Amino acid sequence: MLAADLVSAWEQGQSRSPAHRWQPLLAVLGVDVGRRTQLSVGQRDALLLDLRGELFGSSIVAVASCPDCAERVELGFEVDDVRTRPPGDPTATFELTSAGYTVLARPPAAGDLAELGTARSGADARELLMARCVTAARRGDADVPVTELPDGVRAELVARMAAADPQADTRLVLTCPSCACTWAATFDIVSFLWQELDAWVHSLIDDVHRLASAYGWSEAEIFAMSPSRRSLYLGLVRR
Ligand SMILES: [Zn+2]
Repeated sequence: MLAADLVSAWEQGQSRSPAHRWQPLLAVLGVDVGRRTQLSVGQRDALLLDLRGELFGSSIVAVASCPDCAERVELGFEVDDVRTRPPGDPTATFELTSAGYTVLARPPAAGDLAELGTARSGADARELLMARCVTAARRGDADVPVTELPDGVRAELVARMAAADPQADTRLVLTCPSCACTWAATFDIVSFLWQELDAWVHSLIDDVHRLASAYGWSEAEIFAMSPSRRSLYLGLVRR
């Protein structure tokens, strides 16, 4: 992975809203723009876990706050610990028959989430997502608008979507060392990896500044160095 490519992915992500930052990250992996939006959310997140492993290693330390006492809780785990395998193709349309309704739907795609920026509330976003993921809904011979599906059928749809694409919702079970409260926290690889990349770019730019100031090398020359060579020179500059 070239430092220059990562910095340019970071630059592209900077100018986008957090909901779109996964796009330049997948571009680093060579996933073309047409395929990116069609991936299921779980397929996208599996690729981002691969990228995380490649860039920063397979061990992750995530930090959360206890919902009861607000204590800071750390949890260490491996990339493979949060990997789940979908039972089939998570982009495929499935049929749900329930309470006299027949619904054709698919789990949310990465591109669907990116379109939710226009929603004014969480309820609006859920409605938009439902409308995008349900391709047909009928009761007997009559078409039914998605908004008129009963709550029970919607709940079943959401459960089927989650089961078809388990990687889309990665949860970690945490226990607070202070009050012993246990809860399941969502692990969002997009924002996690973005924060890591952001910190990495800042530290790289700091290195470039030191080396360019000391030796007069260009940014491109310093980016092209291996990390171990860069750190040897940095050691000499700091002496
Ligand atoms: Zn606690």
